[in-house]
Amino acid sequence: MIIAIDGPSGAGKSTVAKAVARTLGFSCLDTGAMYRAVAWQALEDGASLEDAEALGRIAREREIAFFHDPGDPMPKGVSIGGQDVSAAIRTAEIDRAVSPVSAVPAVREALVAQQRRIGRSGDYVVEGRDIGTTVFPEAPVKVFLTASAEERAHRRVRQNVDRSVGSIDYEEVLADIRRRDEVDSSRAASPLRPADDAVHLDSTGRYIEDVIDEICALAREKGAR
Ligand code: C5P
Repeated sequence: MIIAIDGPSGAGKSTVAKAVARTLGFSCLDTGAMYRAVAWQALEDGASLEDAEALGRIAREREIAFFHDPGDPMPKGVSIGGQDVSAAIRTAEIDRAVSPVSAVPAVREALVAQQRRIGRSGDYVVEGRDIGTTVFPEAPVKVFLTASAEERAHRRVRQNVDRSVGSIDYEEVLADIRRRDEVDSSRAASPLRPADDAVHLDSTGRYIEDVIDEICALAREKGAR
């Protein structure tokens, strides 16, 4: 079964997706990490972020892999071309580079094909922007998770402090979140928007555990154990 969780950056998708997956015994696919890995490789190769052809080639030819601890369905990190980029894709530089990269249709085409392949190999909670609309439109559970931009910026700063990567300047993070919302929602290729049949959940001011319980309940209604 696929549980699709879409929404803007910082809405709590990763936390919620991991907790739902742990509760239900599913694995988890973070599609944002794949777009970030391509952006990282583009910067590493010195490719221009306006060179759609070069970006498409990276997405098609460099293997992106999620690695796990033995016996644990939850991925521990991500690599591209064999290089572990789990921490390197969480920097402010990648935050800035990833939107133009993910707006390139050839990049999306290559990554969506991989996402479908991974998702069809088992039970997955898949988080992203276009999972319910484009990648798995047939998913029995679709959630569109939002929160106010201010709350999302506070959470992202706390997360960056915990991980010791990325910006910890609230105003900078807020500006970046607003900019990414704008780019992700207005791009031509698979813009961020809820699927018609998605359940809308606003996590502003809510305990994250309640949101997790609600999604697990939706999944159980559809047959998850
Ligand atoms: O989820 P995360 O913030 O890590 O995603 C990084 C970026 O990747 C987003 O801002 C968006 O531009 C892009 N993305 C996307 N489609 C997805 C997942 C992420 O375009 N399914």
